[in-house]
Amino acid sequence: MIPNYSKLPGTATTIFTVMSQLAAEHNAINLSQGFPDYECDPKLIEFVARAMKDGHNQYAPMTGIPALRELVAAKVSHLYDAKYDPATEVTITAGGTQAIFTALSAYISAGDEVIIFEPAYDSYAPTIKMLGGLVKPYEMAPPDYDIDWEMVKKLFTANTKMIILNSPHNPTGTILREKDIQALIKLTKDSDIIILSDEVYEHLVYDGETHRSVALYPELRERAFIVASFGKLLHTTGWKVGYCLAPDYLMKEFRKVHQFNVFSVNTPMQVGIANYLEDASTYSGLSGYFEEKRDLFRSLMAETKFKLLPCNGSYFQCVTYEDISDEADITIARRLIAEYGVASIPVSAFYIRNTDHHVLRFCFAKKQDTLKKAVERLMKI
Ligand code: GLN
Repeated sequence: MIPNYSKLPGTATTIFTVMSQLAAEHNAINLSQGFPDYECDPKLIEFVARAMKDGHNQYAPMTGIPALRELVAAKVSHLYDAKYDPATEVTITAGGTQAIFTALSAYISAGDEVIIFEPAYDSYAPTIKMLGGLVKPYEMAPPDYDIDWEMVKKLFTANTKMIILNSPHNPTGTILREKDIQALIKLTKDSDIIILSDEVYEHLVYDGETHRSVALYPELRERAFIVASFGKLLHTTGWKVGYCLAPDYLMKEFRKVHQFNVFSVNTPMQVGIANYLEDASTYSGLSGYFEEKRDLFRSLMAETKFKLLPCNGSYFQCVTYEDISDEADITIARRLIAEYGVASIPVSAFYIRNTDHHVLRFCFAKKQDTLKKAVERLMKI
């Protein structure tokens, strides 16, 4: 008999792949996996094509091309008044998920505990487990997904190595407020705890709110990895290019893993993105752009039987469905695809205990027309 050596026996295929595949099989409108269904700026494509034609087709430096790292450092300095040395404190990664994987791999060993806030992006827990770490979830609940920091404090032990933050939050669309940041500063003060701050939706914050990057707070920044994504910034999730920021002592360890994981990220994309981003107006209007989509989706969905939860950031709008049925979220999500032709994500997939608060996540990073067609179908329920 072939022995079962699985390191992740309880882990199945990621919910994003499952739902996108189901959507394709049923020819459904796919509001499940988070990605735009429209093209990026043609100028950006031209810049990348030109980079290829100009011969930027061999390995990039392991840490990323200098021009892009410098640009990232300048952007972060401008936005958050934080100084990161592009030579030692910025690394270009193959997307946000790889940066998260690499930061965890560099620091988590058997027995280390990592605090996460659930519902949580689905790569965190399996990655921690694969490294022999222990996941310590703090479960947030609808409608507000508020964090009671006194309860979070109870999760801290002598083995707590890391805490993962995510704001704007996937899947709930909530954002961290000043009270959360201040509580976190108090909790981590005088400790060796590392913060992994997943900020891939940093530019997607609505209603005049500001993104509270960990980079804004020296007490947090000095112990933090910050993960960001060019996919969300440029509407190019399929390019899988992102970056990681950290003080040099942390980044040194990150790069030890990065070099043997991806080694370096594809060159022409980096060159093209660096040239394109020289003009910061390419992304400065991003929150307004997505806020319009959010508002449209919310106003359309308000006419259906679904109930809208608050959404202050990210690509995502969550809803409850108590006026429709008391089915499990995964059951109704599958039924919406098969019977109504609209795909969403059941939020129980983001809890390791599969806690089901009967919430579905819809991605509104779509053309107006797509959103309208999807909601027309959902109106029939
Ligand atoms: N971040 C995307 C989402 O939440 C999906 C990423 C992925 O499919 N790996 O939908």
